[in-house]
Amino acid sequence: MARRTILAIDQGTTSTRAMVFDGAGRPIGRAQKELPQIFPRPGWVEHDPEEIWRAALEVCRGAVADARLTPADVEAIGITNQRETTLLWERSTGRAIHNAIVWQDRRTADHCDRLRAAGHAPMVQRKTGLLIDPYFSATKLAWLLDNVAGARARAERGELAFGTIDCFLLWRLTGGKRHATDATNAARTMLFDIHRQNWDDELLSLFEVPRALLPQVLDCAGDFGATDARLLGRSLPIAGVAGDQQAATIGQTCLEPGMIKSTYGTGCFALLNTGPSAITSTNRLLTTIAYRLGGQTTYALEGSIFVAGAAIQWLRDGLKLIERAGDSEALAQRSTGAGPEGTGVYLVPAFTGLGAPYWDARARGAIVGLTRDTGIADIVRAGLEAVCYQTRDLMGAMTADGAAAPTALRVDGGMVANDWAMQFLADILGLPVDRPVVTETTALGAAYLAGLTTGLFASLDALNKLWQAERKFHHAMSAAERDARYRGWLAAVGRVRTQQ
Ligand code: ADP
Repeated sequence: MARRTILAIDQGTTSTRAMVFDGAGRPIGRAQKELPQIFPRPGWVEHDPEEIWRAALEVCRGAVADARLTPADVEAIGITNQRETTLLWERSTGRAIHNAIVWQDRRTADHCDRLRAAGHAPMVQRKTGLLIDPYFSATKLAWLLDNVAGARARAERGELAFGTIDCFLLWRLTGGKRHATDATNAARTMLFDIHRQNWDDELLSLFEVPRALLPQVLDCAGDFGATDARLLGRSLPIAGVAGDQQAATIGQTCLEPGMIKSTYGTGCFALLNTGPSAITSTNRLLTTIAYRLGGQTTYALEGSIFVAGAAIQWLRDGLKLIERAGDSEALAQRSTGAGPEGTGVYLVPAFTGLGAPYWDARARGAIVGLTRDTGIADIVRAGLEAVCYQTRDLMGAMTADGAAAPTALRVDGGMVANDWAMQFLADILGLPVDRPVVTETTALGAAYLAGLTTGLFASLDALNKLWQAERKFHHAMSAAERDARYRGWLAAVGRVRTQQ
């Protein structure tokens, strides 16, 4: 008899993953492939779309095989993806006309400066909930239209399609039959009005984007078409889509207003559920769509940090201070910074500028507070600490925007395997940190969405009951020490900022 399972595709920044989940939300199969990063110039980041496509198929087959199942056991597919990353492809062939421009890419910083200087920021924030920054898709798409030969004319003739990675995968999986995305991915393009739920003419004209390029925007759970039967052994319905951070919010079942999760992968993203009301931030956080189900939109306040685990990657690959990311834990324990001032060493990982709440695209990283006795352990520790301090920056901005202080933080992502970092996070926030049994919450959220559509999961309430804590980290640091260390962090950040 066929099992009832969901296959989730999680196309992330550094890897493409697929996982199979059963009806209790337990992972029963997985496969993963690293995604090569392309850095054509300083501050530019690209991905090869064919690499992404090949990996997606490979991991789908791999995860089903790993679960010792066949495609007959999979009742639907859910897709989650790195957000904002921008692609343009030919409708006739499905071939991209340029590499994907990745969310981290800063090539459109000047364009963003000009738009801000011309006074467009308030209108953009009012409609999209976003701040004008190279991070979002709109200026990346404009760059492609202006810099790939013939692209603008072809776009105007309706020959090209724009999409974020979910949309590209959906196009390929359905054999070009569906050009669609979900509301959470649309919300990150800076072309979508998150209140009216439509592509907005004023934004399209500001960014000079022809409407003919745009996909249809759907709820996160529903009918996204079916896969071409030749790809995975049989035709499978695609029944759920959400951007990675929104999927993680669902996977963490932060489904009530006031609940907050923070994901520590390449970057760090904290999302606070604000229910049916979209809170406009006055502290440079983003207002975004958490999910849209049955036509009902739930909003979130989001803080995005561009470099979290990527700082540990840099310690490993750039500085070669560690061999594996996991080695950072033992080294941090060895660092001598036990006094009230800590080590006094701060690493500000502004490699691609600073995200929330600073939004300084031109800031660059620094290590400050070095002395003759600073060692490798102190620098590695400072890399881990930086992620925690940045989380405090975000939580401070959320409270300043009027959000009630949360009672706990649910964490996930590759970096939360690090017990030392999670304890320091609890200490610096002065808040319990909850690590769930399933930390692959991004894939889990995509599976939940697809399973809500097929009926494998009965309701949001049923999902709530599936969340389980694996470990709770309780804060032990005194308020005075916490604040003294945080002041040191703010001073270090002050030294790399190029605008106040
Ligand atoms: P993404 O989905 O963004 O590709 P993941 O959630 O897979 O990222 O997390 C990978 C990141 O986590 C890497 O940047 C890596 O450096 C970091 N990481 C993994 N394990 C650890 C660890 N034990 N301690 C600190 N950082 C870690």
